[in-house]
Amino acid sequence: MLRTSIWGRKYPKSSGFTVLVKQVWGTLRGHLLRPERPCSQRPCARRNRNNALHPLWKGPASVPGGTRQSPINICWRDSVYDPQLQPLQVSYEAAACLYVWNTGYLFQVEFDDATEGSGISGGPLENHYRLKQFHFHWGAVNEWGSEHTVDDHVYPAELHLVHWNSVKYQNYKEAVLGENGLAVIGVFLKLGAHHEALQKLVEVLPEIKHKDARATVGPFQPSCLLPTCRDYWTYPGSLTTPPLTESVTWIIQKKPIEVAANQLAAFRTLLFSALGEEEKTMVNNYRPIQPLMNRKVHSSFQATEEGTRS
Ligand SMILES: [Zn+2]
Repeated sequence: MLRTSIWGRKYPKSSGFTVLVKQVWGTLRGHLLRPERPCSQRPCARRNRNNALHPLWKGPASVPGGTRQSPINICWRDSVYDPQLQPLQVSYEAAACLYVWNTGYLFQVEFDDATEGSGISGGPLENHYRLKQFHFHWGAVNEWGSEHTVDDHVYPAELHLVHWNSVKYQNYKEAVLGENGLAVIGVFLKLGAHHEALQKLVEVLPEIKHKDARATVGPFQPSCLLPTCRDYWTYPGSLTTPPLTESVTWIIQKKPIEVAANQLAAFRTLLFSALGEEEKTMVNNYRPIQPLMNRKVHSSFQATEEGTRS
């Protein structure tokens, strides 16, 4: 079987830290070969069909080498409560917000990371990590879009706040390639109430419809996009876009934030394509689930009897 032949392969392992430069088999498998999570539900069946490969994932296929790739499915009952995990300390400066832009794969809000002002520490982190940018992943429809899943539940979108270790590294570029270089907070988005802070971003999206377009948003406080409950799961993983480096400590918030359907619909008015190119709607910009392999997911909270998601 395909799964066995791919996952059963012995991957080359460098000491302690593996750097992936090219895409790995998991990506090809998910995008080209068959649905990642076979499911009889109609939306799931449609999820991977007619899904042309984005240029981001084109290029020569390389030897697989990942042992801690992301995203993953978080199995609630298999996650291990770690009483040593402290609450995450979050301190962001709204004034450090620089601009929002269309990367050609998603939209991203950049922050000034020249000083220690905006960042996170505590929780599973040994050092202070500076905020570099945040961005979203979403689907063509509300039935899917998140990168991580919880007990196989897919959310319509996922926010990633990307930070780099400013104690061990000089800059973001170095940190991407280094051990314990990055810390990414993941926040699930679910349909519900209108999100006021998000609306400030939604309103500038028409200005960045095409690839490489950018717009200013003024001061923006990213902590407004975090859920009130700060319970989280954490695990060692990778970037979910090339170069897929395994330098990320993931911190996935247990509780999703609510956004209105029309706010999510606004994400889908963006384009992968540049001005003058054939228009391609920016949707399904998530990476398929990767194998957990030899990893444990830890939680900052004790699982309740029901262990249900919200
Ligand atoms: Zn991301």
